Amino acid sequence: MLRLSLWFFPFFHFGPIFWLVPLFMYFLPAFLARNKPNFTSILILNILGGWTFIGWIIALVWAISSDSQRPVVATAQTAPAPGASFYCTACGRPCPVGARFCSACGAAQPAARR
Ligand SMILES: [Zn+2]
Repeated sequence: MLRLSLWFFPFFHFGPIFWLVPLFMYFLPAFLARNKPNFTSILILNILGGWTFIGWIIALVWAISSDSQRPVVATAQTAPAPGASFYCTACGRPCPVGARFCSACGAAQPAARR
């Protein structure tokens, strides 16, 4: 009887790959976010909401989208803040994006990099 049931479920012959692959797919968002600062939040969402397809998609998008949020460790002189503003090359004060001249000291600014 046992042999008959095993014969009816052929995936038993292929070993643990048939449950390792779905397990990896289930934790793919957490795997992608393993080096992210909000890894714990994504992992919790992955575990609690991953069994729903929507929760899994949200965790996956979250894990991918958080890729651009790298911690800014450089000084303000050399690294402008992403998106919001950049810093004056002469006085170091923050200037709005697209400004040609510093609003604080009036120094000419290099062209905005995009
Ligand atoms: Zn300035």
